[in-house]
Amino acid sequence: MAKQGNRVNVEGVSVSTDHYIGGERVSSPRTFEDRSPLDWDWKLADIARGDADTANAAVTAAAEIFPAWATLSALERAAYLERLARLIEERVDDLATVECSDMAMLEESLRLRVIARGARNFRAYGELAADYEERVWESNNTRNRVMRMPAGPAVIITPWNAPFMLSTWKCAPALAAGNTVILKPAEWSPLSCALLADLVDEAGFPPGVFNIVQGCGEELGAALVSDPRVRRISFTGSPETARHIGRSAAENIVPFTAELGGKGPLMVFEDADLDAAAKKAAAQFDDSGQVCLAGTRLLVQDSVSDAFLEKFHADTDEHVLGDSRDPTTTISPVIHPEHLAHIGGFVDRARAAGDEIVRGGKVWKEGGLWYEPTLIRPQSNRSEVVQKEIFGPVLTYQTFGTEEEGVVLANSTDYGLSGIIYTQSAERADRVGRAVRAGTVWVNCFLVRDLTAPFGGFGISGMGREGGDYALDFHSELKTLQILEDSTR
Ligand code: NAD
Repeated sequence: MAKQGNRVNVEGVSVSTDHYIGGERVSSPRTFEDRSPLDWDWKLADIARGDADTANAAVTAAAEIFPAWATLSALERAAYLERLARLIEERVDDLATVECSDMAMLEESLRLRVIARGARNFRAYGELAADYEERVWESNNTRNRVMRMPAGPAVIITPWNAPFMLSTWKCAPALAAGNTVILKPAEWSPLSCALLADLVDEAGFPPGVFNIVQGCGEELGAALVSDPRVRRISFTGSPETARHIGRSAAENIVPFTAELGGKGPLMVFEDADLDAAAKKAAAQFDDSGQVCLAGTRLLVQDSVSDAFLEKFHADTDEHVLGDSRDPTTTISPVIHPEHLAHIGGFVDRARAAGDEIVRGGKVWKEGGLWYEPTLIRPQSNRSEVVQKEIFGPVLTYQTFGTEEEGVVLANSTDYGLSGIIYTQSAERADRVGRAVRAGTVWVNCFLVRDLTAPFGGFGISGMGREGGDYALDFHSELKTLQILEDSTR
């Protein structure tokens, strides 16, 4: 076990404020403040603020141990991932407490679902990598073998929403594939990954295999992605940051996946179960809309618009804004005062431009970080609130006549991460499901995920695919070994 280093107590849970590099706790001369969105006066910690030296130390540790980790069999690596999965399961409550304090996701949802998904990520990828069989076939009098070779140190950069789930989702395939990892979580919600470092240590990973460093994007993140020893970059965040990272990746010719923002349509057809559709539409306010996959553009067929809206308002009225630790709360505060101002800015500009604010449209309680669930009827499909990701509890409402018109609206932004369709017609589900340009389209459901399915975005919602074998292929060098038949004994 690494020495304890600097730690804070968060609601009874001891959390490191240092980096975890080469199996050691490492501090930085500078720190950054981490506050709780539940009460902005509540300072949680001063966290080590990594810089170029931190990046260098972490990449060095990951590069030195890489050959040894890469040489282990996938089954041997899976045993480490399984140990980590079990430790996460043992610490679900602590992880939920810490992440709820740090980014205000509803504690009950963290405890019952989100943290457990982190354990599943490690277990599932360990097993999947161990199950891999080389592709072997014969042609041109040769035997072709296609194998996965570990690529090298991988940098994983994650956003502030769902930090534990997303970080584990992205680190697990890298480790399972035989890469060593440097994880940099977002500076607005660093604590659950700081706690993950304790579990990595306890799981006994060889020092340097899994490093976790803390700091700001422009300082630490930029230094990590520009190090030529890094052979994979896996990023989740905004398109703006992806462009910066992409430049570094291009400089070093490093494969790079980007899971970026979304502006998903939620389409309701006249043959839909309107009760279910309205309920799901109102649920897009969950987590205060800080969900990349959310269906934030409600597109409803004219003939059912009035009936749908009535149900949608009734369902939205059921939401309870409050403290994320209270199980009756359904809408949490947003992550940061800057983000609250960012959301409010969109709504204020929409109002000034003549878009109709149908409900909400303001901060819930002065001094708090809640924004009211807001519905906007835009004047035009070109309105900023329709075309740009807001990442808050703000939905837009538009209607359409024919199915074709609905599809045109659905596909009318630069994004393409997700889509949600409500219809009871199998033919329409297939037709519209194919026509909507998005990486994941759900029909009559939302957020149901099979970890082996590909995940990613069309357009500015991303590049590359993660999930299942797609992630393992990304984290590997695929090699073809071709042997002339009967030439070896
Ligand atoms: P962000 O792009 O501001 O930051 C993401 C991460 O990148 C942070 O860790 C940050 O420190 C780091 N970073 C910033 N500048 C960097 C640089 N120059 N070099 C290297 N790293 C840098 O995004 P955010 O505000 O933290 O997250 C919100 C965004 O993430 C939204 O657009 C949301 O839709 C998106 N998101 C996408 C998915 C998905 O799966 N597609 C999932 C969750 C969130």
